[in-house]
Amino acid sequence: MKKFDYVKPKTLAEASTFMIKHDGEARLYAGGTDVLILTRSGFITPQYIVDIKEIPSLRDISFDETAGLSIGAAATLNAVAISPIIREKFGLLAEAAETIGSYQVRNRATIGGNICNASPSADTVPALLVLGAMAWVFGGGEEKAVPLDTFLTGPGETGLGPGDILTSIQIPLPPAGNAYRYLKLGRVRAADLALVGVAVLGFPQAGNPSGYGFRIALGAVAPTAIRAPKAEAVLVESVDAEAIEKAARTAMRTARPISDVRASAEYRSAMVRALTRRGIKEVLEDLHQMPNDQ
Ligand SMILES: Cc1cc2nc3c(=O)[nH]c(=O)nc-3n(C[C@H](O)[C@H](O)[C@H](O)COP(=O)(O)OP(=O)(O)OC[C@H]3O[C@@H](n4cnc5c(N)ncnc54)[C@H](O)[C@@H]3O)c2cc1C
Repeated sequence: MKKFDYVKPKTLAEASTFMIKHDGEARLYAGGTDVLILTRSGFITPQYIVDIKEIPSLRDISFDETAGLSIGAAATLNAVAISPIIREKFGLLAEAAETIGSYQVRNRATIGGNICNASPSADTVPALLVLGAMAWVFGGGEEKAVPLDTFLTGPGETGLGPGDILTSIQIPLPPAGNAYRYLKLGRVRAADLALVGVAVLGFPQAGNPSGYGFRIALGAVAPTAIRAPKAEAVLVESVDAEAIEKAARTAMRTARPISDVRASAEYRSAMVRALTRRGIKEVLEDLHQMPNDQ
């Protein structure tokens, strides 16, 4: 592995200034489970690795009824998966985080790294999209909020400029009485990247003819994870068997998968349909079992 200098700034401002000064030579480092692998394989050759994970507040997880959930970008995926507040109120995210790698990988890997690595198959992203997450970004001495769907711009690409650092993810409280599934298909069950990931969130919605609202997002089948709004719209009208099938087919048409060494585009498309159908059915079963007052 090519030698690099390890830098550990104490504040966001210090880290950001260093990144601007060494634009193109320095790489932010949180858990390192993507950065170190890319560096070891020679795919990237940073002169400086800038470790931000000990910067105060970057690992905090907090909740407020009005502002919702805030997760520091350097919170590990295990911290996300076991957080009592996330499990209680944002269970979809905990479920998605738990599918990533192994326990050991999740002990280092961070939620911010999972997002900023911008892999189309990043498992937290479909869950974060249906939960309506915002990304908070520090840069130029101030922090600004960017909706996650515009933050991710392509495979390996984000809207981050030189010196920008993702500081936290903010998630509003999801609709009351919701049920969810994150269904992931890998080549093997354990510690594998998603060939397809489908996140489904369903909730009672009195104004809709079907009585329910649904949010659906697809991972690993487009340049970034994407919402499937046309499939969601089908379920506004009805959630009978025909509507579920139509929604699954519509999600499949929304996907833009590629063929690669891990799976063909045709297989991925078929699996989007199958997993979306299964996700909607299972979410509906859970919703039907919930007491009416939830
Ligand atoms: C064995 C193994 C299995 C894996 N399995 C999965 C899997 O099943 N699903 C999955 O989604 N991923 C998987 N991964 C990939 C990886 O673990 C995750 O993407 C992880 O969340 C990356 O987090 P990290 O903190 O290690 O990121 P790092 O490697 O530290 O950083 C990743 C990228 O994000 C940038 N970055 C990090 N933090 C910030 C920040 N706060 N602001 C701006 N830029 C930042 C870095 O510069 C780098 O470009 C796996 C990796 C391994 C090694």
